[in-house]
Amino acid sequence: MKHCLMNNDENKTEDRKTIKVKTKTIVANWKMHHGPSETREFLGKFLPLLSERDLPRILLFPPAISLEVMSASIGKHTDIGLGIQNIYWELEGAFTGEHSATMAVSVGAEFALIGHSERRHLFGESNHQVKNKVSTSITAGLKPVVCVGETKIERVRGDTETIITQQLDSILSEISDQKSGSILFAYEPVWAIGTGMLPEPDEIEEAHSLIRMWMKEKIGEVFSSSIPILYGGSVNENNAKDLLKLSNVDGLLVGGASLDPMSFSKIIESASL
Ligand code: PEP
Repeated sequence: MKHCLMNNDENKTEDRKTIKVKTKTIVANWKMHHGPSETREFLGKFLPLLSERDLPRILLFPPAISLEVMSASIGKHTDIGLGIQNIYWELEGAFTGEHSATMAVSVGAEFALIGHSERRHLFGESNHQVKNKVSTSITAGLKPVVCVGETKIERVRGDTETIITQQLDSILSEISDQKSGSILFAYEPVWAIGTGMLPEPDEIEEAHSLIRMWMKEKIGEVFSSSIPILYGGSVNENNAKDLLKLSNVDGLLVGGASLDPMSFSKIIESASL
């Protein structure tokens, strides 16, 4: 059954502001690295390395505490967007240690990383919590970058497709109306994150095609074709170009290799038009 997103008026969605998939998106997830002074230092080296034109869309996810400094330091670089690595699903309240989506917006974030495997597996985040976070992000005006992916055991058992589909199904209700024009997905096999191990190219294409087909079926072809699907897991300056050639790979989510300005700028170069 086709979901109600298109509301029988697919033309309207073409006018909506979305990220065009033909422009590659390169995301830096700094995890718990680079506080405010290191962020300033990084940008001082990184920004001059960017070429003047034909840049991909660059999204930087520093630790929350560095967002304000980053926002102030980015200046005229309109190709760069900022994101928060995690948010809480309530907008305010007695939730010690958490950050709300509205707080993130107030310091310059436009995106929120949701359901990263470290959140799911180290902090026990469930599909239900991921759904709540996607919902709150959209309500607050943050574009969610939703991560999905299987563990090694799940892959070996042959459960990759089931796991990814369950993760996608859990957020369907949140992306099935007109508010969600700018969601992004990232396929990140858990076993490839920070390990130096990559899936085979056809395994990446299979997973991306599964996500693309799911979107087409559930939310309609026009809308789904504007939603980028990024690959993440052990991306570096040597493999980025080949990964970007794979079908349905609309960009990359980079952890470790995004911490160094030179390595990250080389990855960006691979994605430049
Ligand atoms: C990540 O943090 O999402 C990630 C993919 O990390 P790495 O590039 O270090 O594997």
